Amino acid sequence: MLKKYKKLLPIIMILFTHSINAADWSQFTTPTNTKPYVIGKTNNGCIAGAQALPLQGDGYLVVHLERRRYYGHPLLIQTLKMLAKQAQQQQLGVLQMGDLGQARGGALPFGHRSHQSGLDADVWFNLNPASYANANKQRSNIKQPSMLNSNGKGLNARWTNKHRKLLELAANIAEVDRIFVNPYIKRDLCETVSGNRQWLQKIRPWYHHDEHFHIRLRCPESSPDCIKQAAISVGDGCDATLAWWFEKHTASRSTKKKSAMPKACRALLSD
Ligand SMILES: [Zn+2]
Repeated sequence: MLKKYKKLLPIIMILFTHSINAADWSQFTTPTNTKPYVIGKTNNGCIAGAQALPLQGDGYLVVHLERRRYYGHPLLIQTLKMLAKQAQQQQLGVLQMGDLGQARGGALPFGHRSHQSGLDADVWFNLNPASYANANKQRSNIKQPSMLNSNGKGLNARWTNKHRKLLELAANIAEVDRIFVNPYIKRDLCETVSGNRQWLQKIRPWYHHDEHFHIRLRCPESSPDCIKQAAISVGDGCDATLAWWFEKHTASRSTKKKSAMPKACRALLSD
């Protein structure tokens, strides 16, 4: 009897590993009750002991409540609250917090490849949320206006100095590793920012990101299993790496095969 099962063991192991990779991380509605700990990469990882961003606070609103993607590492929660407060003090407007991550991180069923390890957050560029807060309890299906003009080859009149200031505030937060914006936005900053341009280094051009910007924190010291992203090269990034985005090329987004979920994430799937 036992022998028979021994033979099956490798198959059971494969099935088990597969089920971890394909696990539906969106089913978890509560973080683990453990100390905050980031495992893996932002595009292949998870988080123990995540915290929820309160759905409303000084200078901000969380949107798309039905997605329950308002969890992150306490440092992310702290960073977003601080940014909203600073924006409020400088009268930049009210921040709308889009997706952070799921209660235990992991792959999202739709919308992003990253946002898996509690270190990413999307903040909308629309700084004047309409009065939907009461009328629309889930704050869902809200229009997110783009900052690009109608031919998609420049910024429109919605883009203002307030947005530049907001990005500067965000980039100057020490825990922030990088911020993704549309290449036209990066180019605008390259052309308009004078004085201290140090913070431009953290502003990275990327696909889309014309109606929100994406904040990514560095790996917290207390999470040695957090895998660091390659460092950004020195300088303001207003160089050939930016020009690349405006050249004609056939390169497309990589279609790299998904790697296996870090084993340490397994512990987060029980209970
Ligand atoms: Zn994002």
